[in-house]
Amino acid sequence: MPYNCVVLIKQVPDTKRITGEAMNEDGTVNRSALPAIFNPEDLNALELALQIKDQFGGRITVITMGLPAAAAILRDSLYRGADDAVLITDIRCAASDTLATSYIISCAVKKLDYDIVLCGRQAIDGDTAQVGPQLAEKLDITQITYVEQLSELKDKTITARRNIGNGWQQVTAKLPVLLTVTGEANESRVAAAKKIMKYKNARAPVEVRQRIKAENPDADEATVNELVKQHCDRLAGEGLLIKQWDLDYLQADLNWCGRSGSPTKVHRIQSVVLAAKESKVVEPTEKGISDMVHELIKDKTIA
Ligand code: FAD
Repeated sequence: MPYNCVVLIKQVPDTKRITGEAMNEDGTVNRSALPAIFNPEDLNALELALQIKDQFGGRITVITMGLPAAAAILRDSLYRGADDAVLITDIRCAASDTLATSYIISCAVKKLDYDIVLCGRQAIDGDTAQVGPQLAEKLDITQITYVEQLSELKDKTITARRNIGNGWQQVTAKLPVLLTVTGEANESRVAAAKKIMKYKNARAPVEVRQRIKAENPDADEATVNELVKQHCDRLAGEGLLIKQWDLDYLQADLNWCGRSGSPTKVHRIQSVVLAAKESKVVEPTEKGISDMVHELIKDKTIA
């Protein structure tokens, strides 16, 4: 039987390429100084969905909540084999913490027909690993976190192996289910040349508007609106219009979105710079290592 999958993907700054300009003076991340990439474990979540589709059929819808630029990872997902893409973008989403983020995404997922929701285990910028579990709660469905292998999918039941740090655990659950997928689950496939040719012109309405404004700097708002409509209608006719949903379309309660829906308050941001002060050569013998460990315990560096 076919299974419909919804995959949550996030565009994140490439934290492996930290340079001197990567942090602002106030300690926040200077996102413009870092290349934006597909959150690594979201690629594993997408790959797992693609493997399910390859074996059983069904549709894959990818969703991201972010700035208009996040449409790039939606296109990337279409190149890899996703069927449909949704961009949630709305200025009122700004300052959302994980609780608000999972609420807004839950409003979008509820609009879709799904059997399995897949998330990455963790995003490499926010790093909380909270969005998946919070989303499962809001959808009122079972969650299996830290999935490293899909063992069986049969009728309306899934069995998956989860990484529990010092071993693994096999879990069986009834669908619908939400999985958070680890980097060990699979190797993500590369984009297919044919799909790149097919979807390279896929655009969200907000991207169309940005381009039309850049090309017609003197056009008034009514003309821009008309040109955007014409272009979007043409893209829709060719199956190349990326869906774009805002909080009105999602009928989201604004009290649960953005700053007002975010109980997390950033109290203080501290920029930690690790600088080498002194070094000590340790003899590569059992005694040398044992002495070092005892010294570290004594000065409470380790417990
Ligand atoms: P995790 O919980 O680690 O992510 C797990 C998985 O959930 C991901 O692998 C992915 O599959 C899915 N997921 C997570 N986020 C998204 C998403 N956006 N779209 C689709 N799937 C997703 N961030 C901003 O970009 N703009 C802001 O203005 C902003 N303001 C913030 C204000 C506060 C007070 C706080 C605490 C955080 C703010 N953030 C903001 C960060 C934002 O809360 C987190 O990036 C977001 O909630 C996701 O949390 P995470 O990165 O820890 O994801």
